[in-house]
Amino acid sequence: MSTDIRPSLGLRPVINVSGTMTSLGASIVVPEAISAMASILPHFVEINDLQRKASAVIARLTGGEAGFVTASCSAGISLAVAGAITGNNLLAIEKLPDVVPEKNEVLVQMGHVVSYGAPVDQAIRLAGGKAVLVGQATSTHRFHMENAITDKTAAAVYVVSHHVVDYGLLNLKEFVEIAHAKGVPVIVDAASEYDLKIFLEQGADIALYSGHKFLGGPTSGIVAGRKELVRHAFLQNMGIGRGMKVGKESIFGVMAALEAWENRDHAGIRERETGYLNLWKRTLDGRPGLTALIEPDPTNNPLDRLRLIVDPDQAHITAWDLADALAKGSPPIIVRDHEVEHRYFYLDPCNLHPGEETIVAERLAQELDKARASNEIIATPIENRSRHRFDGALRWPD
Ligand SMILES: *Cc1c(COP(=O)(O)O)cnc(C)c1O
Repeated sequence: MSTDIRPSLGLRPVINVSGTMTSLGASIVVPEAISAMASILPHFVEINDLQRKASAVIARLTGGEAGFVTASCSAGISLAVAGAITGNNLLAIEKLPDVVPEKNEVLVQMGHVVSYGAPVDQAIRLAGGKAVLVGQATSTHRFHMENAITDKTAAAVYVVSHHVVDYGLLNLKEFVEIAHAKGVPVIVDAASEYDLKIFLEQGADIALYSGHKFLGGPTSGIVAGRKELVRHAFLQNMGIGRGMKVGKESIFGVMAALEAWENRDHAGIRERETGYLNLWKRTLDGRPGLTALIEPDPTNNPLDRLRLIVDPDQAHITAWDLADALAKGSPPIIVRDHEVEHRYFYLDPCNLHPGEETIVAERLAQELDKARASNEIIATPIENRSRHRFDGALRWPD
């Protein structure tokens, strides 16, 4: 591990067991990407030529015809939607997000309108798209989607995420079949997925990935798929894409991260992560009020997490108070707490430096011992947590 720069900046040395989170700096960037970025930074390049080289690498790894690098997967949604709306009309590209178009409706299943840190539908609206919600939160039937397609439909967006409703909706194959029957292109937000090929294989016209999640690249987004649609998305760099641009270092960094991904020892990493999960489970098993379960990733990424269910009567602390105590203590441990009101959170093993797994185990034991020793049950009302959720952001930078 390189030397830790955080203390000299006055930043807390957080340990990330929550997953790839933008708010924590996404992921550990792989050494190949770091040296690629350093090697290109001093030089001038013709950016579109570099993007052409990136296109070849993206095409090879995704099975798409072409690709390019942008600022984020969120930017990729906006650019792909914009491309579907404007085509190669340069004037229409300059006019966005104002649209004069015959087509700007973008279908998305209601159960897919989630927040990945910002709302999915905003990325569509930013591009001049009008998000047309299909079905209900927990059900989309074929007739919903078939009837939602009109001559104003420009594209359909499909989101793959642990955040989406995971039952009762159309799967990607059906979604594609219905869209394609009426000539509507399908854009898949696969920001956080390991499999770089499967969505295009299942018929998506564009697949979008984050460069900074599992790939361990710099902060960036990858747009891949059918050449004409990718080109139309790329042309947005002369319009709304300007503010979403990436520099040479990110383009080249993503190329290196993709190539490193191809050669990564995926089985070895899985084994190491399994070791971490087993260590944490051993630390927790047998403690009163705790249930530790190793569970697979909900979107089938080759990754397991530890689910820690907390019974406050026995453990003398609620799941959310435990999560907060871990985050406040030293060193701070940030857990995956999206569903903590259900009395559990997860520990994600995929963003740890070697040795940090032991610190996580020690901190868990420490906080649990402390809670058990307390005569009162540590139980802050969950409403307080949600009420104060944005306090820090609203006070920023103070
Ligand atoms: C993380 C995520 C995004 C946002 O990706 P960025 O590259 O950080 O913009 C979008 N969609 C899903 C499903 C995500 O998980």
